[in-house]
Amino acid sequence: MKRNQYSVLKCACIFLASMLSFYVSMVKGSSLEVEQLAPNIYSVIGPLEQRSELNLANNATFGFIISESGVILIDSGGTLEGAKALEEIIHTITPKPITHIINTGGQDHRWFGNRYFTDKGAVTLTSTMTQADQQQRGSLQAISTAILTGKNWSGTDPQAAQRAISVDTTLDIPGITLQIIPVGPAHTGGETLVWLPQKKVLFSGDVVYVERMLGIGSQSHHREWIKAFEKIVELNPDIIVPGHGHPTTLKIATQDTYNYLTFLRNEVDKFLQAGEDISSVNLIDQSRFSYLKVYEQIKNRNAQRVFEEMEWE
Ligand SMILES: [Zn+2]
Repeated sequence: MKRNQYSVLKCACIFLASMLSFYVSMVKGSSLEVEQLAPNIYSVIGPLEQRSELNLANNATFGFIISESGVILIDSGGTLEGAKALEEIIHTITPKPITHIINTGGQDHRWFGNRYFTDKGAVTLTSTMTQADQQQRGSLQAISTAILTGKNWSGTDPQAAQRAISVDTTLDIPGITLQIIPVGPAHTGGETLVWLPQKKVLFSGDVVYVERMLGIGSQSHHREWIKAFEKIVELNPDIIVPGHGHPTTLKIATQDTYNYLTFLRNEVDKFLQAGEDISSVNLIDQSRFSYLKVYEQIKNRNAQRVFEEMEWE
């Protein structure tokens, strides 16, 4: 059997196994799906749509790992109620306490639930760039998340990660080999990967979007984002838990994230070379990515943002 066929078969087996332990939980009106990826390794998949009172700003994908002494949660939810919803769903699988939180980014749903868990004794960790992004943009983000989540914002107190690392770091947790890998700016000013090298499972945070079109905002750096994705390619994970969407393969992540970023960069470059202005980039035919959710809502904004960034390169 060729190597490619073997890895396709291996991925298919992993996904089949994960589907057997797949279920949906309704916690305080927030719909979250749990999917087991390997023994003691899970993803929690939130909805793809905008933050709302109903989804508690848990409109992202999270993960958790059960160690001998407790649970390591990857990203803590977008509100206090969102953090409680994540804890509740984890406790349907294990009664162990959440001992560590790792934030993969500085966007609200990655860390606004930190305080709930640190009050209970958990340790919060991230990279120095993610921590700086949390500190810089936290209060502005809090204003908009509060509006979008309405009465379910109540009690949320954004607290940046307490500990931050600046180089690839292996966590010392009994029975688990887990690396925290800073990858720099991408969707936000600093993204952080969580890598399980023995299982070849990667929690990518917002470096990877699948199923929905990624968003390039004023806080994003699309050229650096492409480089951050290339670091993931070097790791060669079997399973990627993306920032948004269901657990996936490197092939699908490449198709939905990397290919879109490089496509947009090449297309915008043509307009820049032709001396066109920013309004013309709305003419770019992005339809090969129209299968992605929220395509219509954000495709033009993405192109404009790439234009603005490339003008200064
Ligand atoms: Zn996100």
